[in-house]
Amino acid sequence: MSEPVDTTSGTPTYDSLLAAVTDPDGREVLDPATGEVVGRVAERSAEDVDAAVARVRAAQPAWAARADAERIDLLNRAADAIEAAAEPLAELLSREQGKPLNGPNARFEVGACAAWLRATAATPLPVETVVDDGEVHAELHYRPIGVVGAIGPWNWPMMITIWQVAPSLRMGNTVVVKPSEYTPLSVLALVHVLNTVLPADVLTAVAGGRDVGARLSAHPDVDKVMFTGSTATGQAIIKSSADTVKRLTLELGGNDAGIVLPDVDPEAIAEGLFWGAFINTGQTCAALKRLYVHTDVYDDVVAALTEVAKAMPMGRGLDENNVLGPLQNRAQYDIVARLVDAARDSGARILLGGDPDPDAPGHFYPTTLVADIDDDNPLVAEEQFGPALPIIRYETIDEAIAMANRLDVGLGASVWSSDRDAARAVAAHLQAGTVWINAHGGVHPMIPFGGHKKSGYGLEFGAEGLKAVAVPQVING
Ligand code: NAD
Repeated sequence: MSEPVDTTSGTPTYDSLLAAVTDPDGREVLDPATGEVVGRVAERSAEDVDAAVARVRAAQPAWAARADAERIDLLNRAADAIEAAAEPLAELLSREQGKPLNGPNARFEVGACAAWLRATAATPLPVETVVDDGEVHAELHYRPIGVVGAIGPWNWPMMITIWQVAPSLRMGNTVVVKPSEYTPLSVLALVHVLNTVLPADVLTAVAGGRDVGARLSAHPDVDKVMFTGSTATGQAIIKSSADTVKRLTLELGGNDAGIVLPDVDPEAIAEGLFWGAFINTGQTCAALKRLYVHTDVYDDVVAALTEVAKAMPMGRGLDENNVLGPLQNRAQYDIVARLVDAARDSGARILLGGDPDPDAPGHFYPTTLVADIDDDNPLVAEEQFGPALPIIRYETIDEAIAMANRLDVGLGASVWSSDRDAARAVAAHLQAGTVWINAHGGVHPMIPFGGHKKSGYGLEFGAEGLKAVAVPQVING
C-alpha cells in the first residue's frame, strides 16, 4: 500500500518512482512489448482492504471538515506534483501498459491527469435554491458521501484513476484505489506522487486481484464505488454492493458506432476516423468500433482511411517514433485475433493488417481494417477492444441508425457530415451517452460523460461528476 512520502526528497526519477512502488518479493509485471520484467507488485488480500478502508475512514471526517478552498489548493498542488514527475510517470506507464510515449498516449495521459485535477479543482458547485416563494425556502446542498472505492481497468490506468479520485477528494471523501492487476505499478506510482502533497490516509491504493475488488464493493464501510471496466464485472459489483445499498457509478464496456453520411469529404475525415478508432491501439472504451459508411462514398472513405492507417507506426512505446503500441495482454490479443480470423473466414475483405507475426516478441497485433462485412459478424457485434475496425456499407440512414442502435451497449457514437445540422438530426436518434460530430471519443473535464444501456450509469466530469460523489441534502426552512 502506498504511504505519504517525504516531499523533501526532490523530483522523482524513473528509478526512484519504481523503487517506491515495487516489492522485491512481489509478482512480476511484464512489459507487453518485450516480455521483460518492469517491476514487481505486492499482491494484497481482502484483509488488506479492510485495513485500508479503516484508515481512510478514520481520516475522512477531518478531510471533510477542511474548507473547500483548502481541498482545491491541495488538488492543484497534486497537479503540480504530477507535472514535476511527468516524464518518469509516462515512462512507467509506457513500459507497463505498452502505449507509446508520443501521440495521444503516455505523455498525453499523464498531462490529462494534471489537467483533470485542475479542472476538478476549478469546478464550482454552488448551493442550489430550488424553491424561494416567500413561504418556502428550500436549498439543495451536496455533502460528502464518506469512503469511495475506486476500481479501474488497464487501458487508461492513470487517467481513469484521476477521474475517480479527483472529484471524490474535492467533495470531502477519502478513497481506496484498486488498480487493474495488469497495470498496478502505474497506478501505485500515481497514488504515490499524489500522496507527496495530500494529508496522510486520505488516499491509498490496494493492488490485488478480483477478490480485492470484490471485498471493496461489498465492504460495509465503503459508501460509494466508482467502477470503470467490463459490463460483466459491473454486473458483479451491482450484486455485491446490494446488501449495503452502495452508490455506484458504472462506466462499462462499449462498442461504438460511427455513421458516415454521403456528403463527406473522405480525405478530410480520414485522420479523425483513424484516431477515433485506433487511439491507444483500439483499447479504449469509447473508441469507434463499427463504422457505417454510405454506399456512395464507401470506396473513397475506405481508400482514404487505409492510406492514413498505413502511415501510423506501431512498435515499442519507448521508441519516440511510434504512435501505436502492443495490446496490453495476451488475453486481449487472443480476442482480437479470434474475431479478425472469424471475419476473414466469413468472407470479409481484409484491407490492411490481420496478419500478426506469431514469432515476434510482445503482444503486437497490426492495425487492421476489414471491409465488406455483415453487421451480424462477431467482429462487429462483440467488443473486440483492439486495433481492428469493421467497415459496413449502408444504403439508407434509417438502416444505419437501426444497425448502430441494435446492440445492448451505448457508450459513444459519432456522425460524420459536411452538414452539422444533418449530423445533429441523426445524432438525436442514436442510443449513446455521447454523440460526437466529425470526431469520436474526445473527452473534456467540464463535459459530462457516461453510458447508455449496458455501458453503465452515472456521470463523470464537471459539476455532474462532483454531484455523483456527494450526497444531496435538502435544507427546507
Ligand atoms: P475488468 O472488468 O476485467 O476489470 C476492471 C477492474 O475490476 C479490475 O481492477 C479488476 O481486478 C476488477 N474486478 C474484477 N472482478 C471484480 C469483482 N468481482 N468485483 C470488483 N472488482 C472486480 O475490465 P478490464 O478488462 O480491466 O477493462 C476493459 C473493459 O473496461 C472494457 O470492457 C472497456 O470497455 C471498459 N472500459 C470502460 C470505460 C468507460 O468509461 N465506460 C473506460 C475504460 C474501459
